[in-house]
This record gives sequence, C-alpha cells and structure tokens, in this order.
Amino acid sequence: MSDEIQSLSAVAAVAAIADGGLSREEIFAHYRSRAGADELNAFTWVAEQAPAQIEGPLGGVPVAVKDLFCTEGIPSQAGSKILAGYRPPYTATAVANLEAAGAPLLGKTNQDEFAMGSSNENSAYGPVLNPWDKTRVPGGSSGGSAAAVAGGLAPWALGTDTGGSIRQPASLCGVVGLKPTYGAVSRYGMIAFASSLDSAGPLTRDVSDAALFYRHLVGKDSADATSVAFPESIEIPTAERLDGITLAVPTALVDGDGVEPGVRASFEASLETARQLGATVTSCEIPSAAHALSAYYVIAPAEASSNLSRFDGVRYGLRRDESNLDAMYTETRHDGFGDEVKRRILIGTYALSSGYYDAYYGRAQRVRTVVAKELAEVFAGADFIVTPTSPTVAFGLGARTADPLSMYLSDLFTIPMSLAGTPAISIPSGLSEGLPVGLQICGPAFSENRILSAAYALEQAIGFNGSAAWGAKR
Ligand code: GLN
Repeated sequence: MSDEIQSLSAVAAVAAIADGGLSREEIFAHYRSRAGADELNAFTWVAEQAPAQIEGPLGGVPVAVKDLFCTEGIPSQAGSKILAGYRPPYTATAVANLEAAGAPLLGKTNQDEFAMGSSNENSAYGPVLNPWDKTRVPGGSSGGSAAAVAGGLAPWALGTDTGGSIRQPASLCGVVGLKPTYGAVSRYGMIAFASSLDSAGPLTRDVSDAALFYRHLVGKDSADATSVAFPESIEIPTAERLDGITLAVPTALVDGDGVEPGVRASFEASLETARQLGATVTSCEIPSAAHALSAYYVIAPAEASSNLSRFDGVRYGLRRDESNLDAMYTETRHDGFGDEVKRRILIGTYALSSGYYDAYYGRAQRVRTVVAKELAEVFAGADFIVTPTSPTVAFGLGARTADPLSMYLSDLFTIPMSLAGTPAISIPSGLSEGLPVGLQICGPAFSENRILSAAYALEQAIGFNGSAAWGAKR
C-alpha cells in the first residue's frame, strides 16, 4: 500500500480518495511518516496528526508549506534565527485557501533566511540536501519545498518566488514550479522580503498537479491590497499539441557565458520536441535583460531593508540585551540575522539613502520598466518566451557560498519575469550528468492557463518525470 500511495500524483491521489480506494487518514499517515524520517533537512516542523475536519475538493492530500508563511500557533521562522520559536497568531491566506480546499498542513519546509538565496545554504536551520545527490544543493530559496516533493516526502508543496525561488529549486530538483502573475495569490501572512516582487506558488511532481494546486491558491484577498481576482478559472491541462504556438528564445541571453553544455543540450532537445509538436521556434531580443540582475539586486535589497526593520527584538522572536533600547536593537539584529541578510540590509539602506536614491534605486526602477516593456513587445509577436530555468544543474554544497555574485547568477533567466510581474513555469526537461535540468516557459500576465497547457504538452512529449525518475533510481 505504501509504495502505491507513494507512486500517486496528487491529482491521482485526489481521485483515489474520491472513489474510496484511499482514505485521507492513510495518505496523511504515509506522508507524515515519510516527512518524519526526513534525511534531507527539508522540514523544520512536521504535523503530529491531520486536523479532524478537512473537507474539500483536494480530498485531504496534505501539503508542505515553506516556513516563510505564517501558520497560526505553529513555528514560522523563515529560515532565520531572529524568528526562532515565533508562533504567529494567524495563518497566511495562501495556506488558509489550501486548507479550505481540503489540503491539510503536513509540515513547514526549510528555506534560505527570509528567502534570500539560491542554494538553501543561508538557513539558520542548516542546509537542505538535494535528493538526487546529497553532496549538492537543492537550489533556493524554496529548497526545502522542492526537495520534499522530489524526494517523495510530500505530495506537493507551497513555495515563494521573488527572483526565482520557486523555479530554480524546481529545476535543480527535477520537479514542476509555477511562479504566478504578481498579485494573483495573496501575500497576506507571507513574511515580506521584497513586496513588489514576492509571489507564492506550487512545487509539484507534474504539471497537472500544479494546475490543481494553483486553482485553489489564487484569489483576491481584501487583506492584501495588491491582490487581484484571477480573470478565469484554472483548468487541468489536456493539450497534446502546440500547433500555432510560437516560442521565442532570447538568443543573446541563452548563448551567454555560464550556461553548462548539458543544460544547453537539454534545452535544444526541448525546442526540437516543441517543433515536433507543431510549435514555431523563433529568436527574440530582450536587450535590457543584461541589466535585469543588477536592477533586481538593488530593488530587492532596498525593499528588504525596509521590510526587515520590523525585526527589532520588541515584537517577535529573539530578544537580546534589554539593558537599554539601542543595545537591544543592535544586539538582537547582530545575533539574529545571518550574513546574507545583513549584506542585503546594508546594500538596500545604502541604495535608498539620500543622495544615492536616484543613482541606484531610481535607476533600477527605470531598468525594471524597460524590462517589462521589452517582454510585452516580445509577447505581442510570440505566445511564450522559453529559456533554461537555471544556467547550471545542482552545484555542490559550499561551492558558491564564498562568492555572492556567482550565487546571484543562478537567477539570470528567472529575474526578468520577476521584475515584470509576469508568470513562468519550470518543468523538468531531462538529465545532464545524472542531474535534473529545467525548462522555463514564460507568458504575459494572467496567461497561467496557456502556460500550463503548453507545459503539459511538452511534459507528455518529453516523457520525463523528475520525481518518478528519482524514485526509480532509489
Ligand atoms: N536568489 C534570489 C535572491 O537571493 C531570489 C530569491 C527569491 O526568489 N526569493 O534574492
């Protein structure tokens, strides 16, 4: 029974529960024991038992949730020591939506501190290991969510993406990750990193699971002023062909240095598959993409420096030296934040300071506007932009920690869409040197149904399911 449960996609598990072949108690107990025996350090907290009352279309299939989301009465530490032991008085809307749809909380997953990172090595709770090779990183910052799904410790997981944190770990772990249109999913109760970029979305075994999960995640929320109603319902994709679809490849970006030959080969093979399915593949230019990374690493730290000012030892978590107020602020923040978070606060504060604001923050915002405009121009003539998700496969633990710039390059292909607020998915496209490679498919705002549909057709034709392949290898 346990192998059978393990082999079911979430969509299949929902169906099995609906027709009585599987009970919600059985599936919860199965994943509860899988997550409890976690050897990847993917979880920071695991539920003891399922809540008694879980009703809804997701049938009781449990969900792993990134620790960036507040969960009432349950530790929500965002990978940071400064939030050690913090138990929020309320639950994030994204999590509440999933619970209301019948997906109980299985556990909270490890992450880079405040979602800053691309390897999960910036967690105060230790690095997460990649299930494909435990000497390598799972990607980040939603590394725990990606590793939990890839390693079969959870049927599916909730992550967040500010500059690539759903897509890049999905790519490095061989699972599917969807970054939504900005505003489609409520940010209420999601601990803020860079508010104008933060988004929440699914990490799943396959594209159909992503669609089902996303259907219940979206929605306007009066508690988040930037949230919007999704204009249509999210459909489970069925497309087998890509006839009439145009895929645009930003050639200059994809041909740049740093893309591994194996990643390149897998990407070319995916383009060939797309052509066989009837798609037209063209090349496009996004000249400002070369500056997107630099703009992101001004805007995101600027917003972070402001958002993180609330962690002062007064209201949440850690508190040091109460002898006087200044000492308490200083000592709490000195001890509570890790190095990468401190680096971002310093950069962000500098970029926002008087005399430098226009030179850095103002300029970065102008780049952001140009990136969005250039993407919109491409979408006027093509359905999707496609790239590899990450320039490399999973790298070794410790390989990039000494060089922040090399770490930042992990997000070369994901950041333009974050700046534009447009949706993108990463699906597994195969293996290079025995490790998963991801394909990124990007569309205009609110094109999630079309993205999921194209991703499904490609997934079926490529015939590679990362978590199934990993399960078979085990
Ligand atoms: N790796 C990027 C960063 O460190 C993106 C992180 C994210 O999307 N949360 O900021």
